[in-house]
Formats: sequence, structure tokens, C-alpha cells
Amino acid sequence: MNDAPQSWPCAVCLRPSVPRVHDGCVDRVRQNLLALPGLYRQLGDALVPGRHGGGGRSGTRTAPLPCNLEALDLRSRGGIEGVLATWAADLCDREGWTLTQYGSVEAAVDGYAELLLMNLRMLCDEHPAIKELADELRQIVGQARRIVTGEKAPRKVPVACPCGHILKVSLDTPGERCPSCGEQYSHRELFDLPFAGHQVAA
Ligand SMILES: [Zn+2]
Ligand SMILES: [Zn+2]
Repeated sequence: MNDAPQSWPCAVCLRPSVPRVHDGCVDRVRQNLLALPGLYRQLGDALVPGRHGGGGRSGTRTAPLPCNLEALDLRSRGGIEGVLATWAADLCDREGWTLTQYGSVEAAVDGYAELLLMNLRMLCDEHPAIKELADELRQIVGQARRIVTGEKAPRKVPVACPCGHILKVSLDTPGERCPSCGEQYSHRELFDLPFAGHQVAA
């Protein structure tokens, strides 16, 4: 008998793991679900005129208009709500539950985030697309947080897969599958790939 615990790629980050998804990876999904209702409300503040200062000559680094449009986008039906509703509908579909409909986008964000939180363990144990769920949540939380805090997006670095495809990775990329040849890379393996030059814009 082999008494070493069997391990396989974590279904979220692709690094070796004994459980299907690392506890830390489950926790990051949980933190993102917990953060979204609050970020949704904070994005409302980003829409209030005057928050980003008036005069155009004060050397503001971020233009207020695109920022507000992005906040508006995330707050509309199909923004943050769209990501949560898609996964909540998928969960209800798989379990044979009826998806609750909400009267406002804000109530839907709260309700769907809570539904996904309550079922997070099961999703991590069973859902075939848990990586997509985790990736979409990380992406939209990052986008919302950058609008709220005024941070810039993490810098993307182009690296070359041996098949010739250029992958763009950043320090918060947990792992990636090359869409061209299907090879799976962990975060560390991505950064071991050869740098693919300066010409690719983020
Ligand atoms: Zn993991
Ligand atoms: Zn490839």
C-alpha cells in the first residue's frame, strides 16, 4: 500500500492538492463573495459627481468619466449581478432548485452572493467549472476594488508557451491553461516560461 496521500491539481489554482480544492483557494472564493455586496454599494459612491475633483488642470491621473461608466456598468443588471446570477442559476439548475428573482439589482447581488456562499463547499467539492467561477469572481472583485480605491490594474507580462501561443499573466494569475495547446500551468510554471518581449500591450 502506498500511504502517501494522493494529490492532483487543485481545481482552482492547478497546484498539487490533496483535497479537490485547497482550503486557501476555497477561502479566497469565500472572501470575494463576501466582498461583492459591499463593493456594489461603494461603487455607488464612485458615481456621485464631484468625488474625483472638479478642475481638469489639477493633474488628476484618472479621468472621472470612464471610471464612472465602469462603475455604472458593474452596478447595472448584468454587471456584478450578472456574474452572481449566472452562477446562482447554474447552481439551482444542477440542484433542481427554483432561482429566486429579486426586485432590485442590489437585492439580487446580496441574495445570489449569499446563496453561493451557503453552497460554496459543495461547489468546490463537485462543480466541474469551479475554476471559471473562482476566476470570474476574482476578476470582477479586482475590477470593482480598483475603481473604489483608484488603483491601477496589475501589470500583465507576456510569456511564450512552447506551442508558440503568447499568454498574458500577472502576479495575481493563479494558473492558466494555454488555449492553443491545452497545456496546464501553475502560477510558478507560468513565470518559468520565456518572456515574450515588450510589444504586447496589456
Ligand atoms: Zn488551489
Ligand atoms: Zn500552448
